[in-house]
Amino acid sequence: MCFHCKRELKEGEAFKTYKNRIYCHDDFVQLFAPKCRSCHQPVENEAVSAMDGKLEGKWHMACFNCQICHEPFPDNTFYVFDHQPYCKKHYHLLNNSLCSRCHEGIENLCALTAEGWRFHPSCFTCEVCQQRLGDTYYVFENRIYCEEHIQRQLGKNNQNNSHSNNSQLLDKRRTQIYNMQSNKA
Ligand SMILES: [Zn+2]
Ligand SMILES: [Zn+2]
Ligand SMILES: [Zn+2]
Ligand SMILES: [Zn+2]
Ligand SMILES: [Zn+2]
Repeated sequence: MCFHCKRELKEGEAFKTYKNRIYCHDDFVQLFAPKCRSCHQPVENEAVSAMDGKLEGKWHMACFNCQICHEPFPDNTFYVFDHQPYCKKHYHLLNNSLCSRCHEGIENLCALTAEGWRFHPSCFTCEVCQQRLGDTYYVFENRIYCEEHIQRQLGKNNQNNSHSNNSQLLDKRRTQIYNMQSNKA
């Protein structure tokens, strides 16, 4: 008799024992098999687990995919955020590490502005001349300029407003360049 559902087991029916108690197969799986971290159903066969220790737990083969878009991982590369696997795009979305210019994920060097905008260093350029900016930049109406082009932007803007003073408006800011740690597995 199954300890859980109290059903008499048929002759030849598969059963499992746990702590000297007998369970029918279905109950044993429900009660004791590891649960899939995605769908929370028991995982019997075809369990996937990440071997590198970055992710704990098990998944059904079909459930081990990006937990947002549910696309499988090409070449088995995935990213870990908050103990769940994600594709590159959704990892960077969650991690707030998408480039403000090209909208691709930033791995390695990242330019962070005072506004909290992040860029690939190669995407961190003046709106006008596309020249790469270093550790200082200028902001005008949420756009980023080099020193020469912020002067021109302010010049244009001040033609209608002769009372304002260029040097007061010159909004010089500092960039932070740092190394993004990505949880690529
Ligand atoms: Zn049972
Ligand atoms: Zn599952
Ligand atoms: Zn995804
Ligand atoms: Zn970029
Ligand atoms: Zn420029």
